[in-house]
Amino acid sequence: MRPDELHERHRAVLPAWLSLYYEKPIELVRGEGFRVWDSEGNEYLDFFGGIVTTISGHAVPEIVEAVKEQAQRILHSSTLYLIESQVRLAEKLISLSPISGEQKVFFVGSGSEANEAALLFATQYRGSSEVIALRGSYHGGSFGTMGITGQSSWRPTPRTALDVSYALPPHRSYSPLYARYDDPEELARACAEDVRSLIQTSTTGRVAAFIAEPIQGVGGFIELPPAYLSRVKEILDEHGVLFVSDEVQTAFGRTGSHFWGIEHSGVEPDLITMAKGLGNGLAIGAVMGRAEIIDALSPKLHISTFGGNPISTAGALANLEYILENDLQKNADEVGGYLKERLLALAREHRCVGEVRGRGLMLAIELVRDGAPDPRAATAFMEACRERGVLVGKGGLAGNAIRISPPLTVTREAAGEAARVFDEALSSVEAGER
Ligand code: PLP
Repeated sequence: MRPDELHERHRAVLPAWLSLYYEKPIELVRGEGFRVWDSEGNEYLDFFGGIVTTISGHAVPEIVEAVKEQAQRILHSSTLYLIESQVRLAEKLISLSPISGEQKVFFVGSGSEANEAALLFATQYRGSSEVIALRGSYHGGSFGTMGITGQSSWRPTPRTALDVSYALPPHRSYSPLYARYDDPEELARACAEDVRSLIQTSTTGRVAAFIAEPIQGVGGFIELPPAYLSRVKEILDEHGVLFVSDEVQTAFGRTGSHFWGIEHSGVEPDLITMAKGLGNGLAIGAVMGRAEIIDALSPKLHISTFGGNPISTAGALANLEYILENDLQKNADEVGGYLKERLLALAREHRCVGEVRGRGLMLAIELVRDGAPDPRAATAFMEACRERGVLVGKGGLAGNAIRISPPLTVTREAAGEAARVFDEALSSVEAGER
């Protein structure tokens, strides 16, 4: 079927708000490594990885084989029965965990569910429905997780079962405090003090949890500085508040020199939520953390039919083994470092680049006009990249941040090729070709 015909039929039967990338949306029908092909035979470098999800690359034989082998035996059994791959995956994750002491893992089907579950555990454990989230955060598309998301564009309803307060992250996109501090350390400290102030002025004092993404993903790849996170952690500890690290985008070596995004700050969280890269595209999410918190829920609950199912856990296990055996984290560090250098060079040459940021293979270019966010430039940039065979994403409250997150197997040559395309695309944006 032709893409325009498929688009027509898509519009007729799928929700009107389900927005698609590109003026002429594309259907990806095949992938191999960090390359994908559309239904018309066009080849692209996949530099968005299915929204920061395809971490090991497309059609990795080891992962495909594990899924196929499992599918041939049994597709589904449910959480009412023992599942060996589920137990092995939990053991593997705990062996890689940055959290100390006895731990448990609970599997679900997505990142939203993982955050829902983490907050369920935290609120039950602490006997409080109060939660602190950050402005600029994105935690999911369910009622509860939209309720802790700090971006109005992703919150069609203000309603939530939780009592949420929003703290200020130390970045100019989301914090008015930014203008007052030249020194990043001082800004980090001031924003951390905002958490203390929130606890003391706007809550009962018994807050269940603070939830944050080490690098705000949908928010535009905005890193929370280690100095900020470590100071916040001290304040949370003083008040007995749990720290939930939402690693849906930042886990499994994506950020380069550490396996988990939170490790850059040296903070030990109480719970970690994950999804996306865990299954390299399979629908799986999880909460991992201190056993006493996860076990605090009343016994004999089965709150997920598909959580930890045989297919997704067998596939995720093969995926984790692939990441570790091929040291993809090291590649993310090296190729990511090289790509960031190239992006910084582009920023020096192109006035429409406001900022380059991120770590490892989670990098962003912010597009501006006269210093103000320019979402139209971001759309034009994406079209120009697509025409030249590179797929990227966008994010940020204003939609002006270009998100770059290829599979961690990407080579230096492919990163160089993408940087060349970005250069041309930036020139075409500046020339007003769109
Ligand atoms: N948390 C973060 C940091 C995310 O980026 C996302 C999705 O983009 C979610 C949670 C929700 O995950 P899902 O879309 O799998 O429900």
